[in-house]
Amino acid sequence: MATEIKTIGVLTSGGDAPGMNAAIRAVVRTAIMRGYSVKGIRHGYNGLLTGDIIDMNLRSVSEIIHRGGTILYTARCLEFKTLEGQQRAAQACRDNGIDALVVIGGDGSLTGARIFAEEYPVTCIGLPGTIDNDLYGTDFTIGYDTALNTIVECVDKIRDTATSHDRIFFVEVMGRDAGFLAQNSAIASGAEAAIIPEDRTDADQLETFIGRGFRKTKNSSIVIVTESPGNKNGGAMHYADRVKREYPGYDVRVSILGHLQRGGAPSANDRILASRLGEAAIQALMEDQHNIMVGIHNNEIVYVPFDQAIKNDKPIDKNLIRVLNELSI
Ligand code: ADP
Repeated sequence: MATEIKTIGVLTSGGDAPGMNAAIRAVVRTAIMRGYSVKGIRHGYNGLLTGDIIDMNLRSVSEIIHRGGTILYTARCLEFKTLEGQQRAAQACRDNGIDALVVIGGDGSLTGARIFAEEYPVTCIGLPGTIDNDLYGTDFTIGYDTALNTIVECVDKIRDTATSHDRIFFVEVMGRDAGFLAQNSAIASGAEAAIIPEDRTDADQLETFIGRGFRKTKNSSIVIVTESPGNKNGGAMHYADRVKREYPGYDVRVSILGHLQRGGAPSANDRILASRLGEAAIQALMEDQHNIMVGIHNNEIVYVPFDQAIKNDKPIDKNLIRVLNELSI
């Protein structure tokens, strides 16, 4: 055990993701079994600023592995982005004897952890907790598999009505600017196309889709679209409006799946991933690792420096685009 670390704080931050509870459980149990004390910080970084910090023991994490959401609550904390906010957080760590933090969250949360760890003597270990799967250096993030399954379940239902009415459905899914959820849910649900940010080229994705398949053979069709917030030429509404304008003969509908994609019991894969990563986070601290995200690559645990995990765009496997195109004829 790295001698200077006695107490580990754990928090969940940013968007919630199914499997965060399984990760908390793994962090708390592994840490206690290896002789550390553990404090739970509630409501993300806000908990550091407001002192919402609780002692955790082996039983605090009983009966949670199967529950969605996060028992520590999560939040977005703008103050933590300021110098003063970070100073107060550092003071809270000193006051509570917290020597290291395990931060479970997405890109923003790990960015916060990286900046904090650079300035203050608190070792930070990140766990990738986001349904978007958009963190570089890990094949999967906690919550992605569950959200993917939820989307596929919804699209199966939408297909029944799409077929019955000969409609085109544009189904908008989460992912921010990453197309993993859209591309893979399209393959898994047999959708006709996915419109994802990574495949943005000079070619008009809608034109390509209409020209390729729909006009020739099919009466009903499902197109999965990444939400792409901040891009006025993204999102399901944008494409549905275009079809209404440019191909008025088609019966078009939009379904925005929204927050139901975040909820529900985590899948077995997410529980296993979260358990492995949570255990590995404590292992990393014992090996005196600093300021890294723990990820999984080729089914092996990997340590990814924060800089790499956050700053690099995670590429999507272009073979997935080909597979969908070939199978959706
Ligand atoms: P996610 O972790 O799901 O990507 P956000 O991007 O909303 O979610 O980030 C979650 C929280 O992480 C923010 O509310 C803030 O507290 C912290 N954070 C994000 N970016 C920074 C930053 N540049 N500096 C410090 N803290 C940050």
